[in-house]
Amino acid sequence: MEIQLRNITKRFDDLVAVNDLSMTIKDGEFLTLVGPSGCGKTTTLRMIAGLETPTEGTIDFGGRDVTYASPQERELAFVFQAYALYPHMTARENMSFALDHTGVSREEIERRIDETASMLGIEGHLDKNPPSLSGGQQQRVALGRSIVRDPEVFLLDEPLSNLDAKLRTSMRAELQQLHREIQTTTIYVTHDQEEAMTMSDRVAILNNGNLQQVDTPEVVYSQPANRFVAGFIGSPSMNFLDCRYDDASGTLQTAAFSVEAPSGISGDVATLGVRPEELTIVPSGDGDFSAEVTVFEQIGAYNIIHLEIDGLDETIVAQVDGSKHLDPGDTVGVEIDPKHVHLFDTNDDAVYN
Ligand code: ATP
Repeated sequence: MEIQLRNITKRFDDLVAVNDLSMTIKDGEFLTLVGPSGCGKTTTLRMIAGLETPTEGTIDFGGRDVTYASPQERELAFVFQAYALYPHMTARENMSFALDHTGVSREEIERRIDETASMLGIEGHLDKNPPSLSGGQQQRVALGRSIVRDPEVFLLDEPLSNLDAKLRTSMRAELQQLHREIQTTTIYVTHDQEEAMTMSDRVAILNNGNLQQVDTPEVVYSQPANRFVAGFIGSPSMNFLDCRYDDASGTLQTAAFSVEAPSGISGDVATLGVRPEELTIVPSGDGDFSAEVTVFEQIGAYNIIHLEIDGLDETIVAQVDGSKHLDPGDTVGVEIDPKHVHLFDTNDDAVYN
């Protein structure tokens, strides 16, 4: 089912929660709405679900205007963070509940439950009540309850946020696998950019109710539309330094150093952005500038270094190989590859990626 949002605005009194949002979610796509707390993700999802009515704009499901249609008329399933399972019912009863009295035969209900349970790996738990299941198993029952309904659209609002980190990672993979199998149009809400990046066909980034960019994970990472997206996507975050472009020398100049500019810059340059993983640490005296290590974080597969740039009261972060060890107080050189810089103008729009 293709979903089209056309110029959707939602106001709560004076507050604009969602501002003039237009976007098409393709049939069968896994699209994630991501952004900081309060950016309008849940409000957008609730309007798609029919739980809120847009103040302005229209919503189409498969070419049908559903802007004012009730949730029941939209053939969708909604999974919330706080998945409300009935504690006095078994997992099987919780899953069949949504289908009772819908005209689906008992036999078909049981068949769907068994098939879904085996897809989710909970076939051994169907006769247990939720309180005797782990958080991850309960979450799977809640998902299963939605899947058996065979909806046209899945709406998921932070469904993994109650789970511990390890379980969250494995559920992410399971959800991806599940989506590959059932191919249902899925809209997923999270504030976690890593979750968004690892699971989605496309990611829609919101800030203050405004859509910033919607594209594949690869594109939002490598070609962020603006400084907000550049800083929000990627961990650790992109480093930003004030800078200007000097046409005569073909260099980018910060208050402390200049580096060769990439070719093909157009427009005014106000900010230089470099991802931590794109900085190269070289011996002191080499590279584009020198810096002092202030913090060294040993992660394992890679390490994180916080550096104070000489002559500039600015700290930047570099990500280095797990085998590289440095200590606070060490002085190093830092090299910037002109091919890997991102440049933003005074409006924070990208002028070079
Ligand atoms: P979070 O990640 O914290 O859930 P979110 O991105 O989902 O945030 P929304 O819940 O959509 O954000 O909220 C967007 C804005 O609208 C917030 O400022 C919020 O306070 C406001 N808001 C949401 N629902 C209502 C409501 N029913 N009445 C008034 N204001 C609301």
